[in-house]
Amino acid sequence: MTGISRRGFLQAGSLAVGVAASDRLWAGPGQDTEAPGVAPLAEFGYGDVFMASEPHEAQLRDTHAVLMALSDDSLLKPLRQMSGMPAPGEDLGGWYSYDPDYNYHKNFDAGFAPGCTFGQWVSALSRAYAISGDQATCDKVLRLNRLYAQTITADFYVKHRFPAYTYDKLLLGLLDSHTYVKDPLALTILEQTTNTALPHLPGHAVEHDVRWRMDKDEGDLSWTWDESYTMPENLFLAYQRGAGQRYYDLGLQYLDDETWFDPLSRNENVLSGRHAYSYVNSLSSAMMAYLVAGSEKHLRAARNAFAMLSEQSYATGGWGPDEMLRAPGSNDMYASLTDTHHSFETPCGSYAHFKLTRYLLRVTRDARYGDSMERMMYNTVLGVKPLQDNGDTFYYSDYNFDAKRVYKQARWPCCSGTLPQVATDYRINTYFHGPRAVYVNLYLPSTLRWIENGVALSLTQQGEYPYEDRVTFTVKSSQPTELTLHFRIPAWAEGASILVNGAQKRGLAQPGEFAAISREWKTGDRVELELPLKMRLQTIDSRHTDTVALLRGPLVLMAMKPRQEDPPPQVTREQLLSAKRISEREWQVSSSNGPTTMLPFTSIGDVPYTTYVKVG
Ligand SMILES: [Zn+2]
Repeated sequence: MTGISRRGFLQAGSLAVGVAASDRLWAGPGQDTEAPGVAPLAEFGYGDVFMASEPHEAQLRDTHAVLMALSDDSLLKPLRQMSGMPAPGEDLGGWYSYDPDYNYHKNFDAGFAPGCTFGQWVSALSRAYAISGDQATCDKVLRLNRLYAQTITADFYVKHRFPAYTYDKLLLGLLDSHTYVKDPLALTILEQTTNTALPHLPGHAVEHDVRWRMDKDEGDLSWTWDESYTMPENLFLAYQRGAGQRYYDLGLQYLDDETWFDPLSRNENVLSGRHAYSYVNSLSSAMMAYLVAGSEKHLRAARNAFAMLSEQSYATGGWGPDEMLRAPGSNDMYASLTDTHHSFETPCGSYAHFKLTRYLLRVTRDARYGDSMERMMYNTVLGVKPLQDNGDTFYYSDYNFDAKRVYKQARWPCCSGTLPQVATDYRINTYFHGPRAVYVNLYLPSTLRWIENGVALSLTQQGEYPYEDRVTFTVKSSQPTELTLHFRIPAWAEGASILVNGAQKRGLAQPGEFAAISREWKTGDRVELELPLKMRLQTIDSRHTDTVALLRGPLVLMAMKPRQEDPPPQVTREQLLSAKRISEREWQVSSSNGPTTMLPFTSIGDVPYTTYVKVG
């Protein structure tokens, strides 16, 4: 299928000036999937990166403030109720609540997933502490872990629709408490958690929609929506962080091989019909099976699956309309532009996408995984509405021709668990560490500080990218030191160039690769990166070449419809490609029904919009 759709995209590209088919052309699955012969790049610590980008910092501040304001009693309430204990304090409501008579047919909001986000919030607070060193954050994590340890009982898992999902998140919260807050009890509480949960988990990966608790799921499908196939990632992580051999064995035990990773490793496209976020999330389990257990089969599975996913992604980088992965070559992505407003589950989807691409980038050093992270960051999760203290959460990005940017009706959904984690993780997505090497993956104002062979170094990047072409880097070093700095040159950045201390480095900046500069670096050294932000078009799929999104560099520019009833702009490709910049973050396209304002997702506010337009 891949060969067919690749040719399709190439043909689509040749039909019109400026249609960037190459945006979608991933290294063909099945090719180039040998395990690399070099050690994976390392992540930097949360505290090594100082972020100076306001939208990224605002998301961290906002989510952190919401979590800090939730009372301990409210956070523990559903866990206590389900364990038959006194449960004082305000009920948070929404998905977080416990309702023994919950019926999703009657009310999808209150009681769907009680306490599900507790572990993710402890994880996000722990990572935030690693960033800020804030004592109140540290105290809250330590307090919550102790209160939680007194609460958890088997009843919680017996009564829960999502025992594996919840265990997976609790596991990560405790691991991050151990690693970042240095909670001396975290691994002991983890052991207690695992002992309590295991008898109530399925014992192996059970696919979404498959019955495994025969006493529970009669006539209520929601009991079959657990996600045990995502567990190995955090189980392997637990082993890696010193929780013991048991977690390595459990990681292997829960790998979803037979119907998922095995066919993917043979490059069979088995994405169709699967729950989007959780199956993409499970690819991080495949990556940890490679990183921790050395399984090349699982690396192949993840690389192939990522290529398949790229082929069914929107121009924004999002995927999975109505939370479902689609058949290759189907009409589904095009149909989704009119059939649904639930186009991409944004906080959870981007969290899974960032983890997967981070693993893949570390292992392969392939710059295109970084391109993918960048595309998703600017066009999806960086533009979500802020998490509110009443539980209002941005869930779906809307790529319908009649789109709006709105909160989900249910409060405290899954996405309220992942958004705070996404917000802490921008730091670790931005820079990576190799032997005497740093890889700069994302371009956003920030400073990296680290020690290389006893030498204290810092690298500061500045600029208005992705609105301006130029990113400027300055080096500080306690003494001159040999080092290679790698800079990602996005695949779309034709004509990119690099200057080192004002001198042009010819032939170094190849689109789709990291440009490597090896030299003795000293304080005051300066690198300037020029990434030409040209306009281009990307089609929704190979069969609908007249349905396009306008891109400028990594940014999708969306067409505003000031009133919902406004007709879509009647434009040509040439009119789109000659969009005029009317302010720093605003463009205008002339169309036969008047001028249309084009804005990136981070700027659209509450104005109705469309991501794709039909060109005449
Ligand atoms: Zn979600």
